[in-house]
Amino acid sequence: MARKPQFAPEGIRHATLNNHRFHLRLTDPTEENFLWIDGRSPPLVLDQVAAEFLAEVIDAMWAHQEGSGDHTDRVCDQVVERMYGRYGTRFALGRNRVTRARIRADLDRIFGTLMAVADGSCPLEAGVEMQEIRQEAWAAPARMDLAVTYRCNLECPHCYMGAPREMQELSTQEWLSVYEVLWRIGIPQVVFTGGEPLLREDLVSLVAEAEEFVTGLVTNGVLLEEHAASLRDASLDYVQVTLESHDPGIHDRMVGSADGRYGRGCVVSCACAGGGAAGCDRKRIQTCPLCVACSNLDCPLRPAA
Ligand code: SF4
Repeated sequence: MARKPQFAPEGIRHATLNNHRFHLRLTDPTEENFLWIDGRSPPLVLDQVAAEFLAEVIDAMWAHQEGSGDHTDRVCDQVVERMYGRYGTRFALGRNRVTRARIRADLDRIFGTLMAVADGSCPLEAGVEMQEIRQEAWAAPARMDLAVTYRCNLECPHCYMGAPREMQELSTQEWLSVYEVLWRIGIPQVVFTGGEPLLREDLVSLVAEAEEFVTGLVTNGVLLEEHAASLRDASLDYVQVTLESHDPGIHDRMVGSADGRYGRGCVVSCACAGGGAAGCDRKRIQTCPLCVACSNLDCPLRPAA
C-alpha cells in the first residue's frame, strides 16, 4: 500500500517500495547519505550516485502513483531522463560516456541491490560497501520513542516508570504537531510506548497519522489481540511484546498478577504480532534477553540457535 508523500525540504525521501519502507536522509552534515530500510539500524551509507538514483526513484514513484496499473516503465523512464540530464552532457565523450542505456543498467543494478538487502541479504554480500557510521555527527536521531501515556493495566514490581500514572497527556492534535517537528528534522521512525500505549483510545488514529514514519509499538500485550487488526490496517510496521517468561505463571508473577491469564494472553499476542491472528504480512518477532536465555527448548518463541 502506498503511503502519502511527505517531503521535508531538507532532503528527506520516504516511500514504501515492494512492501519495504525506505527512508533516505540526504542532508547530514557529514555529507553522507543514510538509508533506513524498514527502520533497521544501522542504516546503509549510500554513495552519492546511489542516493541520487534512489531519490529519483522515490520522486518518480510519487509522481506517477495516481491511477491503477503498473507504473514501473514510467518511473524508470523518468529516472533515466533525470539522471541523463544531470550526467549525460557532463560525460558525453570517451570511455566514461554516459548513455541512457548505461543509466538504465545502473538503475537496475542499484535498485536490485537495495531490494536484496531489504529482503534480508547481507549488505556486504549484496555489494554495499561497509562504511563507518559516526552517529554523533547525525543531524537527528534514527528513532524517537513516544510515551503516549503513563497509564498501565499491569503492576510490574520492576516497573521503570518514574512518573505518576495519572497525569495530563498530550492530545491527538498535540501529537500531530510533534510529528511535524520530528519529520522536519529527519527522524525516520517513531515507537509508541508508555505506560501501556494501547490504553490510549486514539492509538490507532495516532498510528495512522504517522504513516510517513516507520512505526513500532511496545506493549505488554494484554490488549493487543483486540486491536491488532485495526493497527495493521493503520499501517503499523512492527510490534514488540514484552514476554517475561514462556511460563504463564512466572510471567504473571513478574507483572504483578497471580492467575496466569496475562501470560497466556501474552503468548497469543506474540503469535498475533508475528502474523498469525492479525494476518500481518511483515512477520517479525522480537524476543527479550530473558527469552533468549530461557531454558525451555520447546518454546515456540525461542530463537533458532
Ligand atoms: S507493563 Fe511496563 S509500564 Fe506497565 S507496569 Fe509493567 S513495566 Fe510498568
